Amino acid sequence: MKRIYLFGYPLAHSISPAFQNAALETKGIHDVVYEKLPLPLERMNEMIDALKADDCLGANVTIPHKQTIMGLLDELSEIARDIGAVNTVVKREGKLLGDNTDAYGFIQALKVRKIHPRHARVMIIGAGGAAAATAYALAQEGAREIVLVNRTIARAADLADRLHIRFPHLELAVNDWDALTQMHMIVNASAVGMAPRENESPIPQHRSLVRGQIVFDLVYNPPETRLMRDAVRVGTRAIGGLEMLVYQGARSFELWTGTAAPVEVMQRAAEGALRELGGR
Ligand code: NAP
Repeated sequence: MKRIYLFGYPLAHSISPAFQNAALETKGIHDVVYEKLPLPLERMNEMIDALKADDCLGANVTIPHKQTIMGLLDELSEIARDIGAVNTVVKREGKLLGDNTDAYGFIQALKVRKIHPRHARVMIIGAGGAAAATAYALAQEGAREIVLVNRTIARAADLADRLHIRFPHLELAVNDWDALTQMHMIVNASAVGMAPRENESPIPQHRSLVRGQIVFDLVYNPPETRLMRDAVRVGTRAIGGLEMLVYQGARSFELWTGTAAPVEVMQRAAEGALRELGGR
C-alpha cells in the first residue's frame, strides 16, 4: 500500500481524507491511501521520516507546519517560495518538492463563477499563509489594488512589502478599514468565523459592506459564516471556502497521481464530510 499523508496538528476536524480517498476510489487507484498523521511542531522530524519512506507518495501540510516544513524539503516551487508556505509535498525521484495549491484553488473557485479579478480592488483580512496565497493569486491575475488588514499589523506590513517587491505596480495599503466601502471584493483569510466561534465576523461592528461587492470567506466550516449572512443581507454576493478547499485538493491530487481529479466526486464527498462534522 502507498500512502499520502496529511500533516498538521490538530487534525480531528479535517475533511481532506474524505474527499481525497473518494477521488482515489473513483479513479480506481486502490493501492494508495490518504491518511492523517497528526504531529505537533516538536515532532516535525517524524514528518520527514514518513515522507522519505518508500511507501510514501507525498503529503498535504497544514497548520502548524506550512512554513516550518519549507527548510526541510529538497526543492520549492516558485509559488510556494512567493507565498512563503507549502501545502503540498510531492516526491519525484526520491526528492521532496514543496508546492502550494491554495492560490490555484482560490482562483479556480472564482473562475467557475466567471469572476475575473483583473483591475479589481480587493481587501484581504488576515496575513497568514491563506492570505498570502490569495494575495499572490490576485496580483498575478491583474488585480489593481490590495488592502491587507490583520490583527497583527506587522504581519500585514511584511506581506505588503513582499508583494511590492514582486508586483511593483500593485497598489497596496495596510490596515485601512476606511477603504472597505470602495472595494470590489472582500476576502476573509483569517480564522475569524470558524466553528466553534461561528457568530464572529472579521469586520468590525461599526463597518458595513456595500451592495454589489463580492465577499469570499475562506472559512468552510460552517459552510455559511456570519460574514456571508451579513453580506447577503446587504445585497452582496457571498462565496464560502469549500470549493476552494476542493480545488486546492484536486490540484494536489493531480500532482501526486499524474491523473485528472474527479472534482465533482470530491465536492460531494467534502459536503458529506462537513455535514457529518455538524455543519449544514
Ligand atoms: P494562519 O497562517 O494561522 O493565519 C491565521 C490568520 O487569522 C492570521 O492573519 C491571524 O492574525 C488571524 N486570526 C486568527 N485568530 C484571530 C482572531 N481571533 N482575531 C483576528 N484575527 C485572527 O492560517 P491560514 O492557513 O492563513 O488560514 C486562515 C484561514 O483560512 C483559516 O480559517 C483556514 O481554515 C482558511 N483556509 C481555507 C482554505 C480553503 O481552501 N478554503 C485554505 C487555507 C486556509 P494574526 O496574524 O494577528 O495572528
